[in-house]
Amino acid sequence: MKKILIIIALVTTVFQLTKASLLAPSGNKTTILTDTLKRDGIDPVCKMKVKAGNTKTVVFEKITYGFCSQSCKNTFNKTPGKYVIKKKSN
Ligand SMILES: [Zn+2]
Repeated sequence: MKKILIIIALVTTVFQLTKASLLAPSGNKTTILTDTLKRDGIDPVCKMKVKAGNTKTVVFEKITYGFCSQSCKNTFNKTPGKYVIKKKSN
């Protein structure tokens, strides 16, 4: 009887993996680029210090922003323009 359970578990796992790999490219069209933070920075969402080497980052307009947590990163991803200080063009 245990064998059946193992087979069911395997099939479920394989199915979920296949589903995930099929959904990933089409379901998420905007690829969020990430990079390792090269130098200490400040989380633009909560203004906390973020150390170099952080991988909770988002590359927005060629600038890498580091975040203290996944939730700050998610907040930034929703409205990056709100947190990025734009330079005056003129
Ligand atoms: Zn934060």
